[in-house]
Amino acid sequence: MATPLTFERYTGNWRGSYEGWLMTTKTFGLKMPKTLPGLGNFYMAGQWVEPGGGLPPAAISGRNAVRKICKKDGKRFRTIRDWSLN
Ligand SMILES: Cc1cc2nc3c(=O)[nH]c(=O)nc-3n(C[C@H](O)[C@H](O)[C@H](O)COP(=O)(O)OP(=O)(O)OC[C@H]3O[C@@H](n4cnc5c(N)ncnc54)[C@H](O)[C@@H]3O)c2cc1C
Repeated sequence: MATPLTFERYTGNWRGSYEGWLMTTKTFGLKMPKTLPGLGNFYMAGQWVEPGGGLPPAAISGRNAVRKICKKDGKRFRTIRDWSLN
């Protein structure tokens, strides 16, 4: 049987929290900062900055972090879809 300890062992995720923050009335829809004061060129992405967690928000979070970096660097942000992955 898989337990949170199993998830922790396999994924390295803190306490086996498989989708990050517990959804409560406080965390639902919460927008968390993706940078830390005084730490330049550092961006956070993933389930711990997207309450609700899961694969789609984690992926979008990474995408948004790259978009912010592009904007800061004055570079055009564009994405491509690799159809060979289907
Ligand atoms: C069993 C299970 C089933 C799930 N099913 C679904 C599902 O059906 N649908 C869905 O949407 N979501 C599901 N999830 C949740 C989803 O997998 C996560 O929300 C998502 O993968 C989080 O992505 P992430 O990039 O934030 O973190 P992770 O994918 O956990 O990536 C974090 C990475 O950081 C590494 N790491 C940890 N500590 C350190 C450190 N100190 N230094 C360097 N690296 C470190 C870890 O090894 C890991 O590779 C499931 C999760 C589990 C465990």
